[in-house]
Amino acid sequence: MIADVILDCLQLEGREEDGVYRPRPSSSDPEKCLRQMDYNKQGYPKQELQGRAYSIFNDGNFHEALSIDLINKTPYRHHSSQMTFNIPAKGLNIGGYFCKQCDSEVPSDHIHTHIDGMILDLLDTERLFEHKGINHFSFQKYWSGDLPLGYFAQTSFGLRGLQLEDENINEAVILIKNKNTSAYLEFLVYYDIKTDTMICYEKNNSHKEKEELFVYMPRITEFLIGRFLEVEEYAKEKKLHDRPYILGENWQCDYCQWSHICWDNLEEAYALRTETDYVNDQSFNHMCYEYDNNRADEKRAKGYKDLLRVDLIKKMGGLKLKKAVTPEFSVSVKVKKNKSGNITETLGVRKRKIEEDD
Ligand code: SF4
Repeated sequence: MIADVILDCLQLEGREEDGVYRPRPSSSDPEKCLRQMDYNKQGYPKQELQGRAYSIFNDGNFHEALSIDLINKTPYRHHSSQMTFNIPAKGLNIGGYFCKQCDSEVPSDHIHTHIDGMILDLLDTERLFEHKGINHFSFQKYWSGDLPLGYFAQTSFGLRGLQLEDENINEAVILIKNKNTSAYLEFLVYYDIKTDTMICYEKNNSHKEKEELFVYMPRITEFLIGRFLEVEEYAKEKKLHDRPYILGENWQCDYCQWSHICWDNLEEAYALRTETDYVNDQSFNHMCYEYDNNRADEKRAKGYKDLLRVDLIKKMGGLKLKKAVTPEFSVSVKVKKNKSGNITETLGVRKRKIEEDD
């Protein structure tokens, strides 16, 4: 009754909103596929997103509001939600446009950004605030070491816009919420407008763990604007960037609204290739050598892992245990019926999170 129609309205609203390509900080992720940006800029027909996808975008706003509510219960204060800036960017958004979200004109040769607000601490230090509510899978990546380059990119524009108005505010906190578990992670960054350099210097999480970082991003907005300008140039020449991925091996293609045209002539293109030829290229030969070597290493590692697996299962049998906890690992064995009905022994080895397990 409701489940089958509830997302349709979001799909209709989303269809109206996502029609036009605009260079903006939220799409400046340096890992974003340039070919995808070409398709968007050059108006290639795109596949419609499911209403569910728009719902995922929308619920980011609710998570942001919840986080802000919580922040205001701590000694920190949040203010200036959705403050906007127009940052000079020659060659972009030529002719300007009207931003419906904030009801304002964006001047030509500028890039327009909305920030999630400002955070004031007990010492009266102001920091730009950027909030992201993301799924468990993406969150885990950043929790365990990946850097959110797209968020750094977006924040660099916010800080640049802010410093054009008040050069004393040069830091930002990027707060990331796991929408599944409500865990939080934050990255603290510093931006210097004179050298257009951003440095991420600290990462904290809601388990009260802190890590010092030194991620140095020189000429960051210049580099990101350069990518947008490249898309403009390609559009003038009606060219497309090469695909940066191979088919079936990148999640970006799985979610791309142009994947239906990007890969549709692959078989025909293969059919046009020469069958066999000798390639006298040392670097190509070296790549093949490296691949072959690593493949052999992988096989050796798998063989060794299989031997260890047998030894560990035997050891657990000798100890008459289903689960063992060592100083660093938690080891478990089970019997299971596989698809053909045969009984097998399975092994699980997990590195312990000491505070959780003790
Ligand atoms: S399908 Fe993949 S390679 Fe092609 S434009 Fe989309 S993200 Fe880029």
